[in-house]
Amino acid sequence: MPASHATDPTSPSTPYADFYRRSIDEREAFWAEQAQLIDWQQPFEQVCDARNPAFARWFVGGRTNLCHNAVDRHLAERAEQNALICVSSETGAERVYSYRELHAEVQRMAAILLDLGVRKGDRVLIYMPMIAEAAFAMLACVRIGVIHSVVFGGFASHALASRIDDARPALIVTADAGMRAGKVLPYQPLLDEALRLSQHPPKQVLMVNRGLAELHPVPGRDVDYAAARERCLHAQVPCEWLESSEPSYILYTSGTTGKPKGVQRDTGGYAVALAASMRHIYLGEPGQTFFATSDIGWVVGHSYIIYGPLLYGMATLMYEGLPIRPDAGIWWQLVEKYRVSVMFSAPTAARVLKKQDPAYLSRYDLSSLKALFLAGEPLDEPTASWIGAAINKPIIDNYWQTETGWPILALCSGVEPTAVGKIGSPGRAVYGFDVRLIDELTGADITEPNHKGVLAIAGPLPPGCLQTVWGDDERYLKTYWSSIQGRSLYNTFDWGLRDAEGYTFILGRTDDVINVAGHRLGTREIEEAIASHPNVAEVAVVGRADALKGQVAMAFAVLKNPALAASAEQAREQEQALMQIVDAQLGAVARPARVCFVGTLPKTRSGKLLRRAMQAVCEGRDPGDLSTMDDPAVLQQIRDLLG
Ligand code: ATP
Ligand code: MG
Repeated sequence: MPASHATDPTSPSTPYADFYRRSIDEREAFWAEQAQLIDWQQPFEQVCDARNPAFARWFVGGRTNLCHNAVDRHLAERAEQNALICVSSETGAERVYSYRELHAEVQRMAAILLDLGVRKGDRVLIYMPMIAEAAFAMLACVRIGVIHSVVFGGFASHALASRIDDARPALIVTADAGMRAGKVLPYQPLLDEALRLSQHPPKQVLMVNRGLAELHPVPGRDVDYAAARERCLHAQVPCEWLESSEPSYILYTSGTTGKPKGVQRDTGGYAVALAASMRHIYLGEPGQTFFATSDIGWVVGHSYIIYGPLLYGMATLMYEGLPIRPDAGIWWQLVEKYRVSVMFSAPTAARVLKKQDPAYLSRYDLSSLKALFLAGEPLDEPTASWIGAAINKPIIDNYWQTETGWPILALCSGVEPTAVGKIGSPGRAVYGFDVRLIDELTGADITEPNHKGVLAIAGPLPPGCLQTVWGDDERYLKTYWSSIQGRSLYNTFDWGLRDAEGYTFILGRTDDVINVAGHRLGTREIEEAIASHPNVAEVAVVGRADALKGQVAMAFAVLKNPALAASAEQAREQEQALMQIVDAQLGAVARPARVCFVGTLPKTRSGKLLRRAMQAVCEGRDPGDLSTMDDPAVLQQIRDLLG
């Protein structure tokens, strides 16, 4: 096996390099230490069983419980401390729960689930807006060994039905409605339709009534949460001690590149990985407040709204609403009010804010805030510097996937406080991840710096990563572990490049590379060139099949001021300007065949660009599974533009 960067004895010794090397070379000792960050009801017998790396098991024989570690464990020291802060800028509701109160609510919810006949190993599907009861439901499930499957509350019936059929839940926990931009979004019609479409509908639904939408309870099926809670006010439900590898939850990937995959997560490995990441990556401190602006329906919501902060004894802020309503000051006002010390968001949110006056962001006292972490998609330099200047705080990129549950590339400022990021890079390989760059054609490890390759991870994956694809070991192996030139490596499906100091740059998804007349171009590079033009708010580039060149680049840009391309002539002028900037930065070979101006770009509900759908439309093909798409009407605008 070629020497990996990780174990290269010639790389210089720095605090982080040493920490990292130990995590790979002395894997068992390293993780046995990290495992002390959580409580074990029964100690593990083996740190890692990696005989079959794709199915590695962590902390074998150890018994623990996620809810115990996230809630009960803190009662001795921080019962009266804030644990869960729920703010809705949509309804105006603001509810704060101490650890003692959270403990009581979670036990009530657990008692209700048990009363309804749900048992260890069953699945419960949580289809909820961003309200406290969603957190209670997640924690209650893991408390009693029930596997939760949180489905993003913004999904419509079809997406919900396919997730019901995949996980086959015994029960669904839902609410009357969500709210977005002042509009009530009733859930029951979507749920009823999903249950009708589903092959394996559960018999029971637990309904939280927020009083936003009219409910039509189905007798024999629907149970009212408030009434059930009244009956369980004094419930005491002990934690079910699970063997470390027993599953805690199923979570579907964002569906950016195809049919969503049901990621199955373990219990002990996940708890250890998250607790350690709070310390080493996210600058967490017990007693302080963490604010991740994601949704519980996504992996950031699971790991860093619910489990990570609570496992670490922090207060977590759960927010329902937009970043710009009532105005773009809302998040920063919350930072001031709750003395938030760490914030975590996505570049897409930063780009939304970037269209606003930066004065909104600097109006509040942000002195408690240490840093803003961003993850989920490429962070372009203009966005990073804009928001960094607007809040005057470090902006820290990190790269990971639903599959891994926590970062693969990051700065690890907790280990090396002097570490500085590099523009365009999410950082270095995170401890525990034996990150490799693989030559796509030969399958060999790329060891020299600044060569582009497929980003892969040598097994075993560290604790906290996916165990398999729910119910489909074969798809898991085929998709992730045997798709790089026959080598048994975990495939991230992203392109990367590593410089001499180990900083890794993500160059896009492996299916986002286009081949123009024999030149392989990353769509991301072209996007960055176009985005550097001051008129551009956002841009997406995809490849379109071309008889002559193989493929050509097609660009779709959102202008900061749409009036600039109002007439056909103005649009042509803008198009020329953007083509010139690509010519100047990358060369004429990368110049898009067309730059079209659109009002918005097609995205998943989690804010990721749906390039595959745009590409299909450009090529006149069926865009495929759009169940995770935010607004399918956007594709029609592109179709119309292309005529
Ligand atoms: P699917 O796997 O269903 O197609 P998805 O890959 O968008 O959807 P996620 O797991 O939410 O689902 O996203 C992970 C992907 O997001 C990564 O593989 C990478 O392509 C991208 N990504 C995440 N963080 C970053 C980052 N900091 N910089 C660049 N890209 C990132
Ligand atoms: Mg993915």
